Amino acid sequence: MELSPVCTEECVIKSDRGHRKSKVSRDVEIDIEVLYKAVPQLAKVFRITDKIGEGTFSSVYLGEAQMRDGRREMFALKHLIPTSHPTRIAAELQCLTVAGGRENVMGVMYCFRKEDHVVIVMPYMEHQAIVDIIGSLSFEEVRLYIYHLLKALRHIHQFGIIHRDIKPNNFLYNRNTKTYALVDFGLAQGTADTQIELLKDLTGLRKVPRPVFGERNLNSCTPAPSTTKQAAIKTELVKPGRTEDPVSRRYSSASRGPLPVRTQSSSQKPQRSVHQSLTCNCHLTDRVCNICMSRKQQVAPRAGTPGFRAPEVLTKCPNQGTAIDVWSAGVILLSLLSGRYPFFKASDDLIALTQIMTIRGSRETIQAAKTFGKAVLCSRELPRQDLRTLCETLRGRRPSPDDEVTPLIEGSKDSPATMDHKIQGDSPTHRPTEGTFKKHKDGAGETPRPLSNRTRLLAHQDRSGCTKTSTHPAKQTSETDCMVQDDERGWDKVPDEAYDLLDRLLDLNPATRITAAQALQHPLFKDL
Ligand code: ADP
Ligand code: MG
Ligand code: ZN
Repeated sequence: MELSPVCTEECVIKSDRGHRKSKVSRDVEIDIEVLYKAVPQLAKVFRITDKIGEGTFSSVYLGEAQMRDGRREMFALKHLIPTSHPTRIAAELQCLTVAGGRENVMGVMYCFRKEDHVVIVMPYMEHQAIVDIIGSLSFEEVRLYIYHLLKALRHIHQFGIIHRDIKPNNFLYNRNTKTYALVDFGLAQGTADTQIELLKDLTGLRKVPRPVFGERNLNSCTPAPSTTKQAAIKTELVKPGRTEDPVSRRYSSASRGPLPVRTQSSSQKPQRSVHQSLTCNCHLTDRVCNICMSRKQQVAPRAGTPGFRAPEVLTKCPNQGTAIDVWSAGVILLSLLSGRYPFFKASDDLIALTQIMTIRGSRETIQAAKTFGKAVLCSRELPRQDLRTLCETLRGRRPSPDDEVTPLIEGSKDSPATMDHKIQGDSPTHRPTEGTFKKHKDGAGETPRPLSNRTRLLAHQDRSGCTKTSTHPAKQTSETDCMVQDDERGWDKVPDEAYDLLDRLLDLNPATRITAAQALQHPLFKDL
């Protein structure tokens, strides 16, 4: 390989820890020392100078190596937590080696291992965090960003890879070079016909669910049918526990399964015939009956970040496909068009589902859930919102008459976060949410606001890079400036195609949701 770092006797670079830039904190220095100790081979090749990412499952470092031809190259060294499951690690690597290195998907150069420490070496790509640049993005940049994200998705989906954690942090963007790279296959799963052999092996890693309430299991875990005739199906959303991937990323945490949306469905064969006669009497009521209490929880993948999870993930539909990544891309587009990041920030799946209903409509969500075998109950009807109106209002581009935009603020009496769901355990009422749904910073804190103020406040909420403060006469100029800048960035002429694509990406029904390949053919991208 042309760019191979020298990793034998020819090695030129010596680990030079004394010369690291002073901006590196003592903590990072210690982490780097620890990494050198854990994987000593690294020191022969790389001068590790900084930590550039830290997540639950890995830390990513910046390393410099001198190449055979004398050039110095920068690399990203991803050190996986030692408790990662070996198959999981191998699958992540296989995704990178088989699908990476082209089509906006990050490639891999090397992998080092000593005992249970694994370090994946990738080319380093300088990038900007979306949260830092969202306020200054032009519409054209947003269009290109989504186009390139869809290209990456089309590519990995062709290999039968479901990424499962599509979000801006995992799609690196370099504004200056206009380069893009999808990273982090740490939660990836395979489709039924995946070409990534190791993703097939991951299914065996799924944990056997433990009964939630320690009682007999009454139904089996047969996947719900993905199509029609779901009238007899009933889903009870119970408060989810930890948001963890059942295809365990950490294999030391065997006791932590995802807690459950439990289903009962006419298609599910009871494990023992005696149970067939048990009729449930809580269907479509706001209670959970004893029969349902003792049902076996349904296990379905729930990996990812709640705010980016598709409805079928949030409701634990067992048949999940590449469409879940497309939904996440839709959430990113919604975020970029509205200038709000994160758009949905939910502490659990139920709140995430409520926030989706606030935008996409409760009737529509219930209807879509039916098609994949889930019944969702919502005590109040939430109208579907017009996406252009929503985004322009959130951008502060249009006044926000209260009758036009459904209130998004949590905490008020009739705000979506307080709606009754059929849940068991804590009510989500007044649970804090952030992002677009979070309480406003300007003064009132957690105090519920009267309805009439809500949408006005929405339009004036702080937005990265552009603060709307028209209620303060002294700052009116800054609002005008802001609007002018916004216009220069093309936000005054967002074409209908953008909202049409958004609508298709955020199709509540995974069976009709646009695919990445189809989305690339969308009129929004006709010139690309
Ligand atoms: P995790 O599983 O911990 O989320 P990621 O693979 O997403 O790990 O990496 C975490 C962060 O490290 C990324 O969000 C990104 O900022 C940075 N990073 C990862 N890979 C690279 C790379 N090849 N070049 C530059 N930065 C990277
Ligand atoms: Mg990541
Ligand atoms: Zn019941």
